[in-house]
Amino acid sequence: MSFFTIKKQSLETDLDTEIPQTTTTASQKRPLMRAGIIKTAHGEIETPAFVGAATCATVKALTNRHLETIKTPAILVNTYHLLLTPGPELIAQAGGINKFTNWQKPTFSDSGGFQMLSLPDAKVDSDGVTFKSHRNGDTIRMTPESSMRAQWQIGADIHMAFDQAADSRDHSIMKQAMLRTHAWLPENLETHELLKHQAERDSKPYQSLYAVVQGGLFPDLRQTSAEFMKDQPVDGFGIGSLYTTETPETAAIIKLTNEILPVEKPRHLLGMGSEPRDLFLGVLYGCDTFDCVGPTRLARNGALYSKTGRINIKNAKYRDYFAPLDETCPCELCQNHTLAYLHHLFKTDEITGKILATIHNETFVIDLMQKIRQSIQDDTFGSLMTNFMNSYYN
Ligand SMILES: [Zn+2]
Repeated sequence: MSFFTIKKQSLETDLDTEIPQTTTTASQKRPLMRAGIIKTAHGEIETPAFVGAATCATVKALTNRHLETIKTPAILVNTYHLLLTPGPELIAQAGGINKFTNWQKPTFSDSGGFQMLSLPDAKVDSDGVTFKSHRNGDTIRMTPESSMRAQWQIGADIHMAFDQAADSRDHSIMKQAMLRTHAWLPENLETHELLKHQAERDSKPYQSLYAVVQGGLFPDLRQTSAEFMKDQPVDGFGIGSLYTTETPETAAIIKLTNEILPVEKPRHLLGMGSEPRDLFLGVLYGCDTFDCVGPTRLARNGALYSKTGRINIKNAKYRDYFAPLDETCPCELCQNHTLAYLHHLFKTDEITGKILATIHNETFVIDLMQKIRQSIQDDTFGSLMTNFMNSYYN
């Protein structure tokens, strides 16, 4: 069976939302939204899916048992953070990331490009990136080859090619990042291919490689990047350097990109998806998997998702709110505790409060993705999106 199987494609026509116009002439009526299955050595991911952001090999504040209860389908670990500590060699010595963490389901690893380039003293040149470790100040050099080797040692099921992420409204900066990403792809492919043959040993199941499309919010660059990537010998695609659909152009950029990328390969929207709007629009315009630190970060800061929008648990109005946040939510917080109790835990800075809030937020996005997946199968995505968004954003 192939790596990615599409179970259902859908062209929604009853959407109560403005579909952004894109500059491509690629058929506007081509179905983008789909439900499918990604197969890995650690099991299947039913898509569309929200992948838990496990930056340092843990979804912050949650144990594997929490993740299993929440039905987290997969996690994404961060190559930059794991490179600094404990180091890819140690993870390889443990038998790979699944054995090291005792996580039984699929794992993605990102390339580390985004984190490195967020560092103030990172220097990028035509061959790679030099940066100082935020942990001990050591100078570290990262290239496509070393990222691929580190990811191979970490041993996730799905790897991302080393790319240059950027966040700028300057066309020339984004163009340069895109061109570097393209120039680095052959070295990623060669190293991955080389390691793949070693990986055919029993102890290392097949690991997939995604190429990353860059270009920021510039349609011409995204089109160039997607055209460059679409025929590359990779298993799927990451879409990088997009941060929120609150930026009006983002949805149009996602649509444009996925209209060009081949239908039969999965697309992962990198690091974006902390809000229901991101997930709905990402799915609508053809993304299959999502990851974002948003739900866990918001939770630790006391921001919780609800059907009628985000709440801040530290707000004084919850001091004597003796009811759950949402009695229909299956999570441990909503099924067992009042908001008054959670408010108290945050006011006293108890770690239990952060754990419960994180459980709720992760449950919220994973449940939402399950509903979205079902709605594609049932041809009810349009009404789900309209009703959910109207309620959430008033
Ligand atoms: Zn809940």
